[in-house]
This record gives sequence, C-alpha cells and structure tokens, in this order.
Amino acid sequence: MPLVNHRLILLIITLSLSKVQAQEQSPFITGTVSFSVMKGTIACDLVLSNLPKINNYVIRLNSGMNVHFFKDRKRGGGALYYDMDTKDSIGSDETKAYYLHENRGNPARYIPEELEIKYLGMYPVVGDSAHGYMGQDWRGNIAFNGYSLRAEGRQGDWYPILYDMDKRKLYSEVRYNIHVSCEDCSVLFVNGSTPVRAKQADLSNNQPREMSIFCGKFEASEDHGIWLLNSGMTPADKQRLIATASTYQAFYEKNFDIPYKGSLTFAQTRPTADPRYWGFSYYTSPTTFNVGVGPYAMQALFDKDHVRRNKQVMAHELAHYYFGTLLKSEGVFGSIMAEGFAEFLSFELTRNLEGDNISQSLLIDKKSSLTYFSNYQPLSRVRTENDYGNREYYLYYYAPILFLAIEKEIGEKAMWTWLKAMVNSRADVTDYSFLVTTFRNSVADKSIAARIEAKYLSSTDALKNALEELGIN
Ligand SMILES: [Zn+2]
Repeated sequence: MPLVNHRLILLIITLSLSKVQAQEQSPFITGTVSFSVMKGTIACDLVLSNLPKINNYVIRLNSGMNVHFFKDRKRGGGALYYDMDTKDSIGSDETKAYYLHENRGNPARYIPEELEIKYLGMYPVVGDSAHGYMGQDWRGNIAFNGYSLRAEGRQGDWYPILYDMDKRKLYSEVRYNIHVSCEDCSVLFVNGSTPVRAKQADLSNNQPREMSIFCGKFEASEDHGIWLLNSGMTPADKQRLIATASTYQAFYEKNFDIPYKGSLTFAQTRPTADPRYWGFSYYTSPTTFNVGVGPYAMQALFDKDHVRRNKQVMAHELAHYYFGTLLKSEGVFGSIMAEGFAEFLSFELTRNLEGDNISQSLLIDKKSSLTYFSNYQPLSRVRTENDYGNREYYLYYYAPILFLAIEKEIGEKAMWTWLKAMVNSRADVTDYSFLVTTFRNSVADKSIAARIEAKYLSSTDALKNALEELGIN
C-alpha cells in the first residue's frame, strides 16, 4: 500500500516486478539468522536444499555481505572454491553473483545437494538527520533506520538466491525453517510466516515466498488474520484499514475466482534517505511495505486530501497477488504486464467499490500528468526500456489507460475473461505475443479483436484513441 504517488516510487524502484519461477522446485532454507538493529549487523549460517540442477547458474547475494564459506554439506570436507560472475547484469546493482566448484579440478559450475553458506554484513544505521541521511532508499536496500531492519529478496538478496542464467529464472521464493534472533528487537517478521513478539523464534513456511524481513522495536497488531506492523494508526483507522483490505481482497478473489494465500500484512517504516523527499512502497506477496513518514505514512492513509489515491494504491498493491505473483512477469514487457494490469485493476476495483466519480477523477489526474510524455513506442514495438519513453508514465499511466479503453470497447465480462485467462495460464513468458494471443482468445468476434488490436496495441496514436474512447481527451 504505497501511500506515495508512483511518480516518486518509480524513481526509486529499479527492478522489474517479478521473476519467473517454478513453484514445484522451490529451494528450502534452514539455519540461523541473527542481527542487531542498533549495530546494523546481519549474520547468517544457512543451508539451501531442494535446489534444481542447473549448469549455468549464479547465486546472488547482497554485495554488503562477506562470505565466510560455501560448503557441500552432503559430501563434507572443507570450504568450496568459488568465483564471481561479473556478467550477471540483471538486477545486479545490489548483489554479487557467485558460482561454486567441486574442488576436484573441474572448472564447471557445481551445485551441491545441500549448500551451506555462512556470511555476515554490516550496514549503516540511519536513525535520523543527525546520523546523516543516505542519498537514496529503495526496495532493494538493506535498511536499518535505528529501530528496525527492512530487507527483501528479489532485489536486495539478503539471503542467497539462485538464478538460472539460461532460463532467466530467479528462485527468490523459498520455503524455510530458520532460527531468527535479534537482541534489540521486540517483533520478528519473516514474510511467509506470521509476526512474533519475541527476541528469538523458529520461523517456518511451507509455501514458496519471498523471504522479506521486517524486524525491530515497534508495535504489532492483528485482526481477522491481517497484521499491521508499526502502523502508528488510531484504533479506528486500523479497523478501517482492515475492513478496506478485506473488501478489496474479496473483490479480487471473487472476480479471479482464486483465493489469496496467506494472511495479509502491512508494514510501515521510515526511509533511510531524507524522509521529506523519499517515500515508496512495494509488495512481496502477501505483504505490503510502506516506507515513508508524514503524509506518506500508513498513518495518513485516510487523510481526506489523499484518501482516494491512497486507497487506489492499496488496490494496486493487492492486485499484484494476481499480476506479479501468480502470473510472474519478467523483463521489459513483463513489467508492463505486472504494473499496467495492477494499475488497471486498481481502477476497476475503485469504480466498482468506491464509485464511478472517484475512479473518473483519478483517471483525469493521471491524464493531466501526461503532458511531457513522449518518445515512446506502441506496445507492439517495445523491445527495450528505451521504448518506454518514460518508465513511470509508460507502466503506470499509458498501459492502464489503454487497458481501460479496451475494457470499455469489449465490456467488463470479456475483460475479465481475458484477465483470468492470463493469470490462469501461469505462463513463464509474458511478452507481447502472450498479451495478444490471450486477448484474441478472449474476444468472440475476431473482427472486433483485430480492430482493437490495431487501435490500441500497435498504433502510435493508441493513447489519443484511448483517451477519446474514455471521454477524457
Ligand atoms: Zn506495482
């Protein structure tokens, strides 16, 4: 539930939302994790098993972590030799990419059946301006803000993440059974299991999940299975948030006919960069992280000046369970799919649950922000991020506006047929041809489908056409 406009968010988030991943072969992680929110330290001794046999792989780990050793637990013996792959460029801003050898003179990459990795890291602790703010804060940052630790997997890789270089598959969703300890914490939360009020705990999870963490000294409350961490909200607003989230979740569940798995959690925390300028949020299923203070804090969710957009952003984040989590979307076109449809769904939900007027006024706000949007390609011609013209406008404005116009043309029923077909496909690759193929299959009249394709998907006038169709040109 980002309370901040995506304009700001997108300056910060640099990685595409999702990675392709096979559920059946999700790694299993055991071992110990201990850290200190006051000292900014993380020490891990983890064992990875149930790893797929991949020849051309790397193991990504946050570049602030110092590796003590890699070991083959089954075979025994000493530490394994390892190298670093400097060509692993995807999402490597935060990480180093390792590969191992079996210590028998064979130069090939080797994955043990049970791989132990012991490592530790130390990070800046940025409590307030007196400590000197960082230049930026972002999703993949391992952030110690004086009272908490916030770290995620897909981008920040605080835990080792296997990456298949050939298939471009990232194994960031894992099952785990780990012992977590933190002397200066009151709450421990590892995504996939429920938060605990303790300084140490055994936490386990049997559904593949991104192992994001949020631990520290803060209050935690639970109601109807929904957890609020450090929300700072009044009891009345907490009730309102839980009611809103439940209603929104139910809307998606009903329309997709797929239940949410896992209990929703909302985590609120302060950025490590200057909070006057930095605020963003992200979703690691089923948890929403909100990083911001003041008007960007969860506390301000229901402030009357921002409540419409804030609730829409909540709808956007919750939609990522379907577009982004169930349907993984990787790469340049995958980002359009995940963000474009999550934003589209937030309009769909808002129109249905909050009313036409509200969704229309949010749409007009969007349209008026597009003054400087130029130099972009139609969906059919997107090859690289350069074709977006502007990443934020393309993903969060252009694409959803096109999808809204398409819905207006084909009707809500056919639109949902299409949305469900995409999500139910669980496709590995969500490229342009996936978009078009699923669209054609969802529209009974082939000539209508062809006309819409030409008008919105391949036309350089697609945006103009869409705004006309929506009556906001
Ligand atoms: Zn999003």
